[in-house]
Amino acid sequence: MVHIVGAGPGDPELITVKGQRYLQEADVVIYAGSLVNPALLDLCRQEAKIYNSAHMTLAEVVAVIAEAEQQEKMTVRLHTGDPAIYGAIQEQMDEFDKKGIAYDVTPGVSSFLATAAVLKQEYTLPGISQTVIVTRQEGRTPVPEREKLHSLAEHQATMCIFLSITMLDTVVRELIDGGYSEDTPIAIVQKATWPDQKIVRGTLADICAKLKAEPMDRTAMIVVGRCLDAVYEPSRLYAPEFSHMFRRASQ
Ligand code: SAH
Repeated sequence: MVHIVGAGPGDPELITVKGQRYLQEADVVIYAGSLVNPALLDLCRQEAKIYNSAHMTLAEVVAVIAEAEQQEKMTVRLHTGDPAIYGAIQEQMDEFDKKGIAYDVTPGVSSFLATAAVLKQEYTLPGISQTVIVTRQEGRTPVPEREKLHSLAEHQATMCIFLSITMLDTVVRELIDGGYSEDTPIAIVQKATWPDQKIVRGTLADICAKLKAEPMDRTAMIVVGRCLDAVYEPSRLYAPEFSHMFRRASQ
C-alpha cells in the first residue's frame, strides 16, 4: 500500500494526524527533498528506508515503490503542502493504476493557506473578493493562454501565485496590464511557517524595488488583491439581524 501524504508548508506540527501516523508506521519513505522539512523524517522508524525524490526520476520513484509493494511493505510518498497543488502526483497515480498498486491520498495544509495564516489575513472579504485564484507564472511548465496572469487579473480576485518569485518583474507587469491598479497591495511570504520565514509587503508599484533590497529565494508565495488593505463589509454570518440554520436573528 502507498500513502501519498501532504506534509504541510514547513512547520512539522502542521502535518495532519493521519499523515503523521503513516510516517511513523512507514517501511519506505520517499520525500520531496527540495521543500519538505527534514524534521518530519524524525518521526520515521529507525529501520525505515528513506529516499529523497529530488535526486530521482519518476521511473526511479515508481521502481522503489513497486519493489516495496512486492515485499508487502508500506510506503509513504511525502509531498510538500497539499499534493493536489503543483505536486505532480497525477502521473504517479496513473503509474500506480497501470501497475495495480493500491494507494490513497492524505491532504495537507497548502502553502497558500499557511501564507494567509502568517499574514493573519482572510482572502474572502465581503464586498472585496469572494474568489481565490491559485495560479503561477509560466515557467518550464506551460500555462494555457486563457489562464495567463493578465487574463486572470481582470477578475480582481485575491490571487495566490506559486512558483513565480524569480519572475516577479513579469508577474507585476502582467497584473498591471490585466487591470490591477498600481496601488494594489501585494505581500510576499518566503518559507511560511519555517523558522526563517520572511514577509515583505508593498504595492504593485514598489514591490520589485523592495525585493531588490531584500531578495527572496524560490520558496515564496505571492499574494495580491485588495483584501490585503481593504475596508470591507462585515460578514453576514455573525450579523445580529441575520438568521441561518444554527442561529435565529435577534429582534
Ligand atoms: N504542493 C505545494 C506547492 C508545491 S510548488 C503546496 O500545496 O504548497 C512549490 C511552490 O509552493 C513554491 O515555489 C512556493 O511558491 C510555494 N511554497 C511552498 N512552500 C511554501 C512556504 N512554506 N511558504 C511560501 N511558499 C511556499
